[in-house]
Amino acid sequence: MFQLHPYFFVLAFSALATLSVIIIVWKRTAPGAFVLKVMLLGMFIWSGSYAMTWLVVPLQQKIFWLKATYLGVVVVPTCFLLFTLFLTNREKWITFRNLLLLGIEPALVVLLVWLAPRAFFASIQESSWGEYVFMEIQRGVWFWIHLFYSYLLVLLGFTLLVTSYRQANAFFKKQYLMILLGSVVPFLFSAFTHLRTEGSSDPDYAPMTFGIAGMVYAYAIFRHKFMDLVPFARSHLIEKMSDGLVVVDAQGRIVDINPAMRTFLDADPVSFLGKNISDILTIWNDRFEHLMNGPEIRTEMRLPHKPSRYLDLRVTPLYDDDHTLSGRLIVFRDITDRKEVEKDLRHAMDRMQTQLIEIGLLQSQLREQAIRDALTNLFNRRYLEETLERELARAAREVYPLCIVMMDIDHFKEVNDTYGHEAGDIVLKTLAETVTSQSRQGDFVCRYGGEEFVLVMPNISLEVARERVGSLHRSISSLYIPFGRFSLNVTVSMGVSAFPLHGEKKEELLRAADRALYAAKHAGRNRVMVYRELEKNE
Ligand code: GH3
Ligand code: MG
Ligand code: MG
Repeated sequence: MFQLHPYFFVLAFSALATLSVIIIVWKRTAPGAFVLKVMLLGMFIWSGSYAMTWLVVPLQQKIFWLKATYLGVVVVPTCFLLFTLFLTNREKWITFRNLLLLGIEPALVVLLVWLAPRAFFASIQESSWGEYVFMEIQRGVWFWIHLFYSYLLVLLGFTLLVTSYRQANAFFKKQYLMILLGSVVPFLFSAFTHLRTEGSSDPDYAPMTFGIAGMVYAYAIFRHKFMDLVPFARSHLIEKMSDGLVVVDAQGRIVDINPAMRTFLDADPVSFLGKNISDILTIWNDRFEHLMNGPEIRTEMRLPHKPSRYLDLRVTPLYDDDHTLSGRLIVFRDITDRKEVEKDLRHAMDRMQTQLIEIGLLQSQLREQAIRDALTNLFNRRYLEETLERELARAAREVYPLCIVMMDIDHFKEVNDTYGHEAGDIVLKTLAETVTSQSRQGDFVCRYGGEEFVLVMPNISLEVARERVGSLHRSISSLYIPFGRFSLNVTVSMGVSAFPLHGEKKEELLRAADRALYAAKHAGRNRVMVYRELEKNE
C-alpha cells in the first residue's frame, strides 16, 4: 500500500542527492573526511527514512520509518560539530573522553525512540488530507530536550566556523563560508518546523534541504578542494622531504616525526611518538638541554654513533595565538656532503699555501743564485752594476762620499801553477771571507773577475777608507792558508777611487779604481793606490 505524496518526491530527491555526495567523497582520506561521511550518511538515513513515512500508508509502517529516521537524526548534529572542529584545526578537542560524552545523548535518544517512544512522541495519530494519509505527531518532553541539545551542538559548530572565519585567509574564508551556507539552510528549516506554536501536522522541512546542503559540500570539495590541499601538501612536504623533522609539545614529548628521521635514528621513527625528545637528543649532544630551552637556534653537530655524519640542527619554538609556548619544531639536515667538500677545499687551500711558500723560497734561492758567485758566495758583477748605481744615487741625494776598492791577487797564476787549481780556489774563498768579515755593515763585496774583487764602501771619507783598506791589505798579507802540507800566502794590489771626488758615474769610478790598481801593479804590486795620488804622480 503506497501513496505518491509530493513530499515523498522532494525527500527522496534530497536523499539521493545526499547519497551521490557520499559516493563522491567516499574515496577521500583526510582529517575530517570520515566524520563528514558519517554525517552525510546520517543525513541520507534521515531524509530517506522520512521519505518512506510519506510513501507507506499503514500507520504502523509509518511509525517504523519515523523511528528509523532517528538513526540519522542523532548522528547529524554531533558529526557536524566534529566536522567543524576538524575544519577549524581544533582536532585536539576530539579526545576519546569527549567522544564518549558526545555519544551519550544520541544513544539515549535512539533507545528511547525504539523502546519507549511515548517519552518522545506524546501521541502519533493517523490523519488524512484529500487522498493522502499522514501522521499527526505531538512532541513529548524528550523530543524537546533532544531538539535543544542538537541546536546547541549546531550553534557551537557555527560559532567555531565564524570565529575561525575572522582569522582565516581568503582561501579558507571562502571555504568556511560555503560550509556555513550549506549548514545554515537545514538548520533554519528545522527551526521553522519546530519552533512554531501551530502546525503539529506540518512535515519536518530540514531533511528536504539535505540535498542542497550535500550539493554545497560537494561544490566546496570540488571547487575549493578543502579536503585535499592541506593534507596533500603536508604529506608531500613532510613525509617525502629529506630533512628529518620532529615536532614536540611544550613538555618535550614527540607529537610528530617524519620518515626521513629514520636515517638519523636508525630506528622506526613512529616508535618515538609520545616519548621525550631527550631520549633522542641527549645521546647525540650534551648541549641539548640548552638547545631545547632557548629561542630559535641553529647549530651544527656530529652524530656520535656515526662519526662521519654532520647534521645541521634547527630548533624553532612554536607559539599559540596567545603567545604561550605550545611546542618546538626541530629540523635535522644532513650536511655531511657539504662538510666534506668544505674539508677538501680547506685541504686544497692548505696544500696551495705550502706550495706558494715553497715557490717563494725557490724564487728567493734563484734570485740569490743569480746575484751570487758560486765559489766564493760573494755578489757577482751583475749585482755590482745594479747596486752601485743605486748606492751612488743615494749618496748624491743624501750628500755623502763613497769609496770603491778594486783588488787583484798578485801572481795568482803561480799559485795555480805551483799548487794546483784547487789550491787557487781555496785561496779565493779565504780571501772572500776575509774581505767580507772586515767590511762594515752597508759595505758590499763582489767578485769582479777571476781573482779580482771590488769592495764598495758607502758613506766613508777617503781618509778613513784609506786606513781601512790599508788594514785590510795588511791582514791579507799576513794570511797563511793551509793547503795539505803547505801554507799558502798571497799578496794583493788595490786601487781606490772615491765619489764624488773621482767621478759621479759608476763607469768613471770603476775605471778610476781599475787605473789605480793597474798603477799599483805597475809600481811593484802588494800595495794600495788611490786614484788621486795617481793623478798627482802623473
Ligand atoms: P798579476 O795579476 O799579479 O799580474 O798576475 P796574475 O798571475 O794574477 O795575472 P793573470 O790575470 O795573468 O792570472 C790570473 C789567473 O787567475 C789566471 C787564472 O788561471 C786564475 N784564475 C782565475 N779564476 C780562477 C778560479 O776561479 N780558480 C782558480 N784556481 N784560478 C783562477
Ligand atoms: Mg792577478
Ligand atoms: Mg787579474
